[in-house]
Amino acid sequence: MIPLSVPHLNGNEWKYVKDCLDTGWISSAGSYVNQFEQMVADFVGAKYGVACMNGTVGLHISQLLAGVTADDYVIAPNITFIATLNAIKYTGATPILIDVNPSNWQMDLDLLENYLATNTFLKETESGVFSFHTTTQKRLKAIMPVHVLGNMGDIEQLQKIAEKYHLDIIEDSTEALGSYYKKKHAGTFGKFGVFSFNGNKIISTGGGGVIVTDDEELAKKAKHLTTQAKASQMEYIHDEIGYNYRLVNILAAIGVAQMEEFPNLLKSKHKMDEFYRNELNGVGDIEFQQVSKDVSANCWLFTFKTNKMRPLLEFLNANGVQSRPFWMPMNQLQMFKEDIYVTENDCSSKIYENCISIPSSAGITQEQMQEVVTKIKEFFGK
Ligand SMILES: *Cc1c(COP(=O)(O)O)cnc(C)c1O
Repeated sequence: MIPLSVPHLNGNEWKYVKDCLDTGWISSAGSYVNQFEQMVADFVGAKYGVACMNGTVGLHISQLLAGVTADDYVIAPNITFIATLNAIKYTGATPILIDVNPSNWQMDLDLLENYLATNTFLKETESGVFSFHTTTQKRLKAIMPVHVLGNMGDIEQLQKIAEKYHLDIIEDSTEALGSYYKKKHAGTFGKFGVFSFNGNKIISTGGGGVIVTDDEELAKKAKHLTTQAKASQMEYIHDEIGYNYRLVNILAAIGVAQMEEFPNLLKSKHKMDEFYRNELNGVGDIEFQQVSKDVSANCWLFTFKTNKMRPLLEFLNANGVQSRPFWMPMNQLQMFKEDIYVTENDCSSKIYENCISIPSSAGITQEQMQEVVTKIKEFFGK
């Protein structure tokens, strides 16, 4: 079976893990954590990086530090992996789901803008000026764009909307390490960006995340909150309710090795994307995700649309090519059925019904890609 997306471990992973084992520094302290944080921050061009257990908890902590409370709304796209929404619910906040743009599959910003213009008002409060919802009177505190599949939408438009409506931007950049908008890296456009190093992501620590920010104070607070909010070096004095969300040294060691290899892996992802786009162009009714000329996407997981998604999915999985459907839209999951879903044409459900992801590991070989393409062409009778 050609796997969908598996880690590529060809660098110093063994060496650094062995170093952890040899020295006993496997757990909550050690130099690889700092090194990994710095490498990720440097790569994306952020001032600070804070490592944590995974992307999901990174999104949780970022919202807490942005001041999201249980009385607030947080805006999110209707097409995303469940973790985005789970992280919102951990804070007790309520999501407002925005349908996606049918060509780039990111949050539909025109729809969002129109909704905010007609359903919210700005009000001065003791802690500042915020947007409130006209019917429910709840505050809209943050917006969490998701760079779906490593692609990005119109970030300038997003920033304008966020500014106008006093929303903090927390980028769910978990899929977007190596993606850029106008040469600026994903995750650096708002208050926080969060990256994931889960096993299926572009690089992996087994499980892991990094929160990036340019704000020193927020970075310190993120470190504090993810490490049980211990307020003294020596004494067990804690000054707030913290979380045991830290990334352990042995996993950070893998992360350092992966970051060393990442520039090369990213190049091979671009080649993969080019190969698939060339080979599959015009095959059956296949349609690709549109990437704006302002965006350099990391090509994390190759996904395309076809009306024959279900039978193709079955055919490929039965023929040694591991493939997956897209995420069920959030508004269709029972936990979010009562939440606000802003849409005109429900593009989300069409994308869900038509999208299929094909093998895209960073280490995929030319022969494997050829085999994937051959099987797809065979299915479409070409
Ligand atoms: C992977 C992913 C996450 C969560 O990251 P984990 O490290 O698996 O917790 C969040 N949002 C999106 C869109 C993801 O793809």
